[in-house]
Amino acid sequence: MSTAITEPVVPYDEVIAEFDPVLGLEVHVELGTATKMFCGCPTEFGAEPNTQTCPTCLGLPGSLPVVNAIGVESAIRIGLALNCSIAEWCRFARKNYFYPDMPKNFQTSQYDEPICFNGYLDVEVETDDGMRTFRVEIERAHMEEDTGKTSHQGGATGRIHGADYSLVDYNRAGIPLIEIVTKPITGTGKYAPEVAKAYVTALREILRGLGVSDVKMEQGSLRCDANVSLRPSPESPLGTRTETKNVNSLRSVERSVRYEMTRQAAILRAGNKVMQETRHWHEDTGVTTSGRPKSDADDYRYFPEPDLVPIAPSREWVEQLRAALPENPSVLRARVQAAWGISDFEMMAVVKAGALELVAATVAAGADQAAARKWWVGEVTRIANERGVELVDLPITPVDIARVEAMVGAGALNDKLARQVIEAVLAGEGSPDDVVATRGLAVVSDDGPLLEAIDAALAEAPDVAEKILSGKLAAAGAIVGAVMKATRGQADAARVRELLLERLGVAE
Ligand code: ADP
Ligand code: MG
Ligand code: ZN
Repeated sequence: MSTAITEPVVPYDEVIAEFDPVLGLEVHVELGTATKMFCGCPTEFGAEPNTQTCPTCLGLPGSLPVVNAIGVESAIRIGLALNCSIAEWCRFARKNYFYPDMPKNFQTSQYDEPICFNGYLDVEVETDDGMRTFRVEIERAHMEEDTGKTSHQGGATGRIHGADYSLVDYNRAGIPLIEIVTKPITGTGKYAPEVAKAYVTALREILRGLGVSDVKMEQGSLRCDANVSLRPSPESPLGTRTETKNVNSLRSVERSVRYEMTRQAAILRAGNKVMQETRHWHEDTGVTTSGRPKSDADDYRYFPEPDLVPIAPSREWVEQLRAALPENPSVLRARVQAAWGISDFEMMAVVKAGALELVAATVAAGADQAAARKWWVGEVTRIANERGVELVDLPITPVDIARVEAMVGAGALNDKLARQVIEAVLAGEGSPDDVVATRGLAVVSDDGPLLEAIDAALAEAPDVAEKILSGKLAAAGAIVGAVMKATRGQADAARVRELLLERLGVAE
């Protein structure tokens, strides 16, 4: 529940006229490794609390960490995909602070020796003058571990205030995280909120392409903190920033940056100072509220981790990883669009639906690109929206869609039946072939049963038959409809109409 604090805001147009925004985005990504960063505990989501722990991730005395090689490899691949330099030698560091969800009382992280640094990501934003590319510079990407999870019981709000007691689950403690931090992003002007969203979107696409994480913002495997400040003009020194937490959807990235700009503008306009603090985003009310003060001088007493050897990735290994990187998503998009010969508009529809990889995989499984696009961007997207989930999370695969489309192509299914099959697959009734077999779905192509159904429909509605015979062909629709109903949608409507007119001896 959000506290109802409404702070003054300035209309967005006026913010832009008076101030220059600066952004800084910190993205945490939970790696999809099978085991944790410094021990062999499994990382699977949703297990019983505290069943995935050991002396190391519980921070028990005498336990010793060991680095997860896949974690390091993933960090390097992420850095390379973001055009970063990869450190020849770097260390982990202890970030010391006390918090109950962190049993060691320090987080194993990296400080002044990150494994990846000085990169960039180009993102595209739709502006008043068409698409424009903004370069977002990456300061660093470093390795660290996640904390456990605290839940506060007994209160009305789920927050610590008013709770009777709190529970801690250490299953998440020690799960590998990569934190990707941008340099201050300047020069966006009024497009700051859109650039922020485009950056997180592009980053997520890259991470998904690398296969290093399932990048689900709503489950917390991709988390974004948005730093925002305003200054009088692009020539002025940077203003004081706030850091908004909890921004757990792409849409909220854009909304929270926009809101924070309007809030800070009101403070500055009144001659007051923006407090440097963390803030919390509230999806329901669309505002941020004050969190805790945070100064740049917060002293975590960082020091190099003595229990872990330094990381010194050989140049050969780094080059091997670079050579094996998947194609950059924007390059891939251009190539695929050319191969399919579709317009910018059609491509945009696929990308917006988050269906590019799915459509491509469906084409690879043998479907025609137009048909693959039609099913994914149409029917399946509609169902995903209905259920409020992402396309990739629906239990239907490109192979399933290709199979449905193959059956349509062979005349075994019509579009209406194909939709039924897709819905049944999504309802867990099995593969398309299973569904067709158990539901007995097939286009009735044999004329015999169709003629029987036509005769039955005509007998039910002699008046309609009269109309058709007198030349009112539009009336045929009623009989065709009745036949389609009788055959549960399994007839080919055009064929039914043909047979009907033949039966009555009426010419088209
Ligand atoms: P912290 O430890 O406070 O999280 P980080 O260095 O991890 O600090 O992240 C701060 C983020 O804010 C970076 O992306 C940085 O580029 C950005 N940033 C720094 N100063 C400003 C500013 N004045 N306005 C907006 N963003 C800023
Ligand atoms: Mg930070
Ligand atoms: Zn463990």
